[in-house]
Amino acid sequence: MAVLEREIIAPVPGAYNLENYDALRHTFSWEDAAKELSFTKTGKLNAAYETIDRHVDEGYGNKVALHYVNGDERRLLTFQAVKEKTDHYARVLKSHGVKKGDRVFVFLPKTPECYISILAIIKIGAIAGPLFEAFMEDAVKDRINDCKGTVLITDNEMVKRVPQKDIPSLHTILDVGEIENTTFDDKNDCDLVEWVDLDDGMLIHYTSGSTGKPKGVLHAHRVVTHHHASGKWVLDVKDEDVYWCTSHPGWVTGSVYGLFAPWLNRATIVIQGGRFKAENWYQLIHELQVTIWYSAPTAFRMLLSQGEVIKNFDLSSLRHVLSVGEPLNPEVIYWAWKQLGVRIHDTWWMTETGGHLIVNLPAETIKPGSMGRPFPGITVGILDEDGQELPRGSVGQLAVRTPWPGLMKEIWGSKDRFNAYFKYDGWYVSGDLAYQDEDDYVFFQSRDDDMINSAGERIGPFEVESKLIEHPAVAEAGVIGKPDPIRGEVVKAFITLRPGFSESKELLEEIRIFVRNNLAAHSAPREIEVLDELPKTVISGKILRRQLKELEINRTKSS
Ligand code: ATP
Ligand code: MG
Repeated sequence: MAVLEREIIAPVPGAYNLENYDALRHTFSWEDAAKELSFTKTGKLNAAYETIDRHVDEGYGNKVALHYVNGDERRLLTFQAVKEKTDHYARVLKSHGVKKGDRVFVFLPKTPECYISILAIIKIGAIAGPLFEAFMEDAVKDRINDCKGTVLITDNEMVKRVPQKDIPSLHTILDVGEIENTTFDDKNDCDLVEWVDLDDGMLIHYTSGSTGKPKGVLHAHRVVTHHHASGKWVLDVKDEDVYWCTSHPGWVTGSVYGLFAPWLNRATIVIQGGRFKAENWYQLIHELQVTIWYSAPTAFRMLLSQGEVIKNFDLSSLRHVLSVGEPLNPEVIYWAWKQLGVRIHDTWWMTETGGHLIVNLPAETIKPGSMGRPFPGITVGILDEDGQELPRGSVGQLAVRTPWPGLMKEIWGSKDRFNAYFKYDGWYVSGDLAYQDEDDYVFFQSRDDDMINSAGERIGPFEVESKLIEHPAVAEAGVIGKPDPIRGEVVKAFITLRPGFSESKELLEEIRIFVRNNLAAHSAPREIEVLDELPKTVISGKILRRQLKELEINRTKSS
């Protein structure tokens, strides 16, 4: 297995829309990219118009915009139908006095109405705040209070998790059922779309909260240029594709790459309701003949650990698969390559960046363990503590040259938190640590706070976790630095076991030796603890190393 990690995976000939991206890398400019949208021609900008209405105006009203699947329920809407529904929702919002710049939240399950609500809010110039469907009262309250939301669209079930009396700014709660049933005598559509400026607010997304309190990241309408260009070149969507992004719009991936980027490129998207279940997911790909599939490492790892189930389904429609949100373990890439004959293309970006920054473009070679190369038009730097660029191969702070169209407008209510990203002139500093090789590929090491320092050695948890899950007994792993009086920190691994394995001293020792022999002696965990499940962020399912570390520190304190 250790040898495999050095193997690169070349593109499958004919699988993608473009065979060679070299020319694009040289000719790409954000100005040209913007020309594919209508606002550069008409001078009238609105992200919701660009996303949906434009296609109707250009004659694609009859094209299928979405397939909705939930249990036995199936629905299909054309672009014309999505536009009409969005207009109706927009009219209802206007009738409740919603104005440009107001923060309007959406708290709905993954349904077409959730997507349509987001677009309707943006269409009338208000700022949409999508909330994740599994949030409980405090999560809902904290976010709406943070940016003083005034209106919320929800349904009669989820409204039970909205503590309205603790959210003073919230004056109106709209139920989707009621919105659907509202009728108007006089429809005046002429002034429904609010034409805005590039820098007017459009979308507020709260970060995943992997490192602390979630930040309210505000994006302006100009972000659509980034959404559109990355949808075209990274997602590789074309008219005949059926595109499925598995995340809910309450996470930035579910809105940017679940809604905006594919629809800006006129793709037919899949919206799936219900909980994760391997059989259902595979069945959905087969039934709808999904061609492009965008998911996250945590989901791929779960599918991998389900083993043989995949063999019961014909997934040959898939031609392009992507991943985001956490480091993508090489083991997962090899699994998909063997089982599906497709490569998983890792992509790196953040809520704050508005869109992809480092990607594996469809027809380029993949180096497992790397996130790919900078998106055309993006320049990456690896910086030292003084903000100076480090030579290739050195680990440092992953930074990006400013500006680019998707870069956030502000962190709601906090100039300080915003300014912290721009501490070196001309750079956006991500908070991740990485190195870049001679071919421009960027290798994620850890988040700034997660890097382990053991007896003077710096150890990135990702590499250790990836090695751990190569062992047949390990399903998932979260690795931290456990405080140690002599070494500063020692490597400690929390793991979950795959079905069929049970914990024993011998097994844990075998796993430890496996890492020692295949990675490095100093990276092998001194301690391995088996958990039933790892703590993860609610929205995006990222492993919360911060919580594992707190657990460990609290134990040390109380012992
Ligand atoms: P918070 O900022 O609240 O702590 P978060 O950083 O997890 O949460 P997001 O904006 O959802 O919030 O995630 C961005 C982060 O996710 C990146 O900074 C990086 O650490 C991680 N990430 C995203 N994509 C990848 C990837 N392909 N490989 C490795 N890490 C990734
Ligand atoms: Mg972050």
